[in-house]
Amino acid sequence: MAQIMSNDNEKYIRECYTLARRSVKKGNHPFGALLVHDNKVILTAENTVLTDNDKTRHAETNLVSRANKEIDPKILEKCTLYTSTEPCIMCCGAIYWSGISKVVFGCSAQILDKIAGKTIDIDSKYVFSHTVIPVEIEGHILEAEGKEIHESYWKQ
Ligand SMILES: [Zn+2]
Repeated sequence: MAQIMSNDNEKYIRECYTLARRSVKKGNHPFGALLVHDNKVILTAENTVLTDNDKTRHAETNLVSRANKEIDPKILEKCTLYTSTEPCIMCCGAIYWSGISKVVFGCSAQILDKIAGKTIDIDSKYVFSHTVIPVEIEGHILEAEGKEIHESYWKQ
């Protein structure tokens, strides 16, 4: 498998930000996520909390639910999940149970919390440091752009 370089991270996080903006246009919260295998985007998802009237429909849970149904677990464990904002504790759990082994986020949960409030203040690194099977996590990719998306949405 080709090694993921940092500019690939920027490319995929930029796509997550595009998904997050699209999610807003469809009447939902500004979050998007995608799944990369072997340097190809194989699934994308947006937040659908408002249109589905279901508060568990975060971009990551939407992505992981589909991934579990559509993608072979052997492939899934080699995928990287990219997400516009650091996953919440619910999504960390969903990602873990799906068998995905790597996560890259754009904007941190701390920044989201300062702007929108109401997050659960448990760091994703903390969650993933307590899993039996390790999940690698990195983030703060193009964070200023992610912050801007949240500011323009939540401060209306
Ligand atoms: Zn979440």
